[in-house]
Amino acid sequence: MTVIDCAGDKEIASNLVKYLISLGHDARQDNSLVIINEKNVKNILKLFIKYAGKSDYDILQADSETIVLAKLTSITNFGLSTCEICGYVATDEELFAHRRAHGIQLF
Ligand SMILES: [Zn+2]
Repeated sequence: MTVIDCAGDKEIASNLVKYLISLGHDARQDNSLVIINEKNVKNILKLFIKYAGKSDYDILQADSETIVLAKLTSITNFGLSTCEICGYVATDEELFAHRRAHGIQLF
């Protein structure tokens, strides 16, 4: 079983679950997390990124059971910070909520 962490993005999580189920995978959504009954999901996710036209998204292995699917943006604006888990860039306030969305023991 693998958890795909969509970094607070419920919309992409929902699209991903529909995509996975359409391919015959056993997947379900929990907020912005997608739980799939597969071990090697990186190739599936790469295909999903292509299929969904989300070329600005990337895949990161967070730990042995968690993969993060999130937008990777370079920091160009002053005052923005980066999420340590997935590289998501936002203001400090937004990042506080964002990090909690990971549900991982950061704080
Ligand atoms: Zn993050």
